[in-house]
Amino acid sequence: MKKYRHLFFDLDNTLWDFDLNSYHALQENFMRYRLDLQNFDRFYDTYVSHNERLWEFYRQKKITKEELSRSRFELSFSDTGMTGVDPTAFNRDYLELMPQQTRLCDGARVVLEKLSEKYELHIITNGFAEVQYKKLGNSDLSRFFSRVFVSEEIKSPKPSPEIFRHALKSCNARKNESLMIGDDWEVDILGAAGSGIDQVFYQPVRETITGEKPAISRKVTGKTTTYFITDLHQLVSIL
Ligand SMILES: [Mg+2]
Repeated sequence: MKKYRHLFFDLDNTLWDFDLNSYHALQENFMRYRLDLQNFDRFYDTYVSHNERLWEFYRQKKITKEELSRSRFELSFSDTGMTGVDPTAFNRDYLELMPQQTRLCDGARVVLEKLSEKYELHIITNGFAEVQYKKLGNSDLSRFFSRVFVSEEIKSPKPSPEIFRHALKSCNARKNESLMIGDDWEVDILGAAGSGIDQVFYQPVRETITGEKPAISRKVTGKTTTYFITDLHQLVSIL
C-alpha cells in the first residue's frame, strides 16, 4: 500500500454537487426573470450541452471568460425560442445564486472529516475564482483544506500539467505521496496521470436530474485508473 500524504480533490461533482446546485440556481433565476417554468427542463438540457462544449473551448483558450459567460445563455435562449432576456445579466445573476447553493455529494462531509485527521487535503478546481471560493465558504468546506488551487488564478486549467505542477510545488508534495480524486475522466484522471500522480476516479451511480439515463464512464473502457469508486465512503477503505 502506497503511503499518501496529500489528497487533492476536485470540487464540482466530487464534493460540491454541481449538477443539483446548478439546476436549482438556474430554476431560481428563471423565476426571478419571470420565465415560464414549463420551458425549464428543455432550457436546462440545452444549457448543459452548450455549457460543456463552451467550457471545453475555454479550457483550450479558444474563447474568453466573457464569451463563455455570454454565449452559453445567448445560445440556450435562442435554441429554446425564448426572447427578451439579456444573457449577460442572466449569467451574472445565475453566478450570484449558484454558489449560495450548498448541496454536497453523498458522504462528502463525513469522509472529509475522517480524512482530514490523517492527510493534508487540498482542492484543484477548474472554475472562476470568485465563484469557487464562495461555494467552499457557503457550504462550510473551506476548513478542511490547506490549499485551494483555482484554474483561473493559476491561468492554466486541468488537465494541463502546469496546474498539477504548481499545486505540488506549493504544497511541498512529492508525486508519489499525492493522490487526485475527481469525477472527470479527462480533466482529473488523465490530467493527474499525465503528471505522474495516482488517481481515484469517482463515478456515482444516479439518475440525471431531468430523468435521463446516467451516462456512466463510457470513456473508461480500455483505460485504467489507480482506484475506481462509486461512493465517497469507499475512500476511507482505500486510504
Ligand atoms: Mg468535477
